[in-house]
Amino acid sequence: MRWENLTSDSEHGRADAALFGADAVTTRTFDTPEFRGITFHEIRARSIINRVPAVSRMSFQWTVNPYRGCSHACVYCFARKTHSYLDLDTGLGFDSQIVVKTNAPELLRRQLGSRRWQGEHIAMGTNVDCYQRAEGRYRLMPGIIAALRDHANPFSILTKGTLILRDLELIEQAAQVTDVGISVSVGFTDQELWRTVEPGTPAPERRLDVVRTLAEHGIGCGVLMAPVIPFLSDSPAQLRATVRAIAACGATSVTPLVLHLRPGAREWFMAWLGQHHPYLVARYERFYAEGSYAPKWYQRRITRQVHELAEEYGIGPTRAGMPRRIRPAEPAEEPPVTGPTQLTLL
Ligand code: SF4
Repeated sequence: MRWENLTSDSEHGRADAALFGADAVTTRTFDTPEFRGITFHEIRARSIINRVPAVSRMSFQWTVNPYRGCSHACVYCFARKTHSYLDLDTGLGFDSQIVVKTNAPELLRRQLGSRRWQGEHIAMGTNVDCYQRAEGRYRLMPGIIAALRDHANPFSILTKGTLILRDLELIEQAAQVTDVGISVSVGFTDQELWRTVEPGTPAPERRLDVVRTLAEHGIGCGVLMAPVIPFLSDSPAQLRATVRAIAACGATSVTPLVLHLRPGAREWFMAWLGQHHPYLVARYERFYAEGSYAPKWYQRRITRQVHELAEEYGIGPTRAGMPRRIRPAEPAEEPPVTGPTQLTLL
């Protein structure tokens, strides 16, 4: 693979730095078990605050993404497609070829201080997970949150990573001076399904522990119940078990989102389906025959079921004792009954 010998000194390095929107690319691998098989492409990015395309239906306009690719390796991840823009593989390559914007904190601090920046909301974790395993080594998020805190710039984080608790103190500090929204993604609690379809992520109950810990610190945290996977995590019993667990950890909201399969994710997911649940392949081909989204009637049914369960279990704002400015993240997490979105199924 062409990336294996990539360094900042090589001809390829210069060409590919341009592809990355960076001045240089350095490639590293680490031998520790945690990072075995993963290659990091360290870059010094030229810009870090990204505008969300106008066609998007997002409720935010700006994002910060310190990483590209995600070792959480969710089979259905729709950010897979974005790896092809870097001439990287969207399957295993997305899981194991991680681009790290090593200058993200200092660059963000500089851009936040620019006279042109208007202090608008910045969403994180909307493309790939900013608390994926690489963050344990590169520690970019503390500098990013500190910069946002120091500029009192509102932000939100959506994650599957338990590592976010490392930065709890910084998040609390930021919430004293600006609006901060936190959401954790837990689509289901089925252990067997989790092991095969989200193989690099912390277990669902560990993610719910994050919600619980945040709540214990007075930080309201919503749960994005995503994805609900047709015929694999959508039985009434499974939906009930998931919503009950979300309620038990003190989540302030639950927002269901049915699996969508865009190009890039679709091929990878269907290959996985053929391997693990071959009897479902034909059914999925019919279900997603019209495009990336499940039929609207199905999305509405799941939404209704989850909302009814949420009401039954009393999920809702529990603001008592919550720091004044902390609230659940509000990315555009409505079920995509129409049109595409930019939000990954974190
Ligand atoms: S869905 Fe989120 S956590 Fe999973 S691989 Fe994609 S970016 Fe990472």
